[in-house]
Amino acid sequence: MTFKAEYIWIDGTAPTAKLRSKTKIITGAPAGLDALPLWGFDGSSTNQAEGHASDRVLKPVFSCPDPIRGGDDVLVLCEVLNTDMTPHASNTRAELAEVSARFAAQEPIFGIEQEYTFFDGTRPLGFPEGGYPAPQGGYYCGVGADEIFGREVVEAHLDHCLKAGLGISGINAEVMPGQWEFQVGPLAPLEVSDQLWVARWLLYRTAEDFKISATLDPKPVKGDWNGAGAHTNFSTKAMREGYDAIITACESLGEGSKPLDHVKNYGAGIDERLTGLHETAPWDEFTYGVSDRGASVRIPWQVEVDGKGYIEDRRPNANVDPYLVTRLMVDTCCTALEKAGQV
Ligand code: ADP
Ligand code: MN
Ligand code: MN
Ligand code: MN
Repeated sequence: MTFKAEYIWIDGTAPTAKLRSKTKIITGAPAGLDALPLWGFDGSSTNQAEGHASDRVLKPVFSCPDPIRGGDDVLVLCEVLNTDMTPHASNTRAELAEVSARFAAQEPIFGIEQEYTFFDGTRPLGFPEGGYPAPQGGYYCGVGADEIFGREVVEAHLDHCLKAGLGISGINAEVMPGQWEFQVGPLAPLEVSDQLWVARWLLYRTAEDFKISATLDPKPVKGDWNGAGAHTNFSTKAMREGYDAIITACESLGEGSKPLDHVKNYGAGIDERLTGLHETAPWDEFTYGVSDRGASVRIPWQVEVDGKGYIEDRRPNANVDPYLVTRLMVDTCCTALEKAGQV
């Protein structure tokens, strides 16, 4: 027997990497991640190599059932390696693997809210030809054909994620017409990031069948229209048990060069989205607060009431690399928590 394995990887496109994939027919019965072979590709076509030494290696790191093809077929997320088996420069997962192993005892977990926008050709879905829809106000979590655009795609994507076994935890319509959100997690750093990349691939792939495209552009429409973010919710064991650790984590994100170190890795075009308007804090100022959707980092009200829980970093753009944001947050917060003895 044979089965189809869709090998998915993250390319070297700058400033925002793209997903690529191709199909391998494998002979035999599916036998899990460890049985999936290494594969290769032409790195000169993905900004990952020069033509004269173009081979790059695909190393399977996560696999799940392929909900579109069904049967025994699988999706296979890969890391990109050089031919000497070292991580390629575009491979941000390898560094996250090191950092998350170092702080594993603190049990960090993440829930990421992925916002995105559907496009029909060059227009956001729901925008009339040559003009604009009614101003924002009624679209967020709306219902009805005058407010909702693309729900059939969103439902199909949700079903695909569930069928693949991804840790998707919800969906909602967003503030701008054609804009939506799904959440992945809470899960450990590598798991949430791998599954978010696969959920993104499934989003593009699902929408393709409806002749619609999806974009993670952080500011798909200029002017008085909401941008698209990837709010990153984070906790460690100590944060889930007490409030002091919540405050330590918030403070650590504001220390010294940390705000800028983070923001410059939170997705291309972040200064266009983090303007201080549309429920954002300015990109060059760090603030945190309870219930504050105008702060860089929000402590949900329930977390203050309970005296424990998690924090929400509201800064990451929709186009952020989850391997980067989770690595930076684990590194910054877990180092501070360790220093404070809050582990
Ligand atoms: P918002 O009110 O900001 O829109 P959402 O419901 O969209 O919130 O997202 C909240 C996210 O927080 C979910 O993805 C959820 O999995 C995540 N979350 C909940 N508890 C924790 C926790 N203890 N640690 C990390 N993430 C968490
Ligand atoms: Mn949300
Ligand atoms: Mn949202
Ligand atoms: Mn949020």
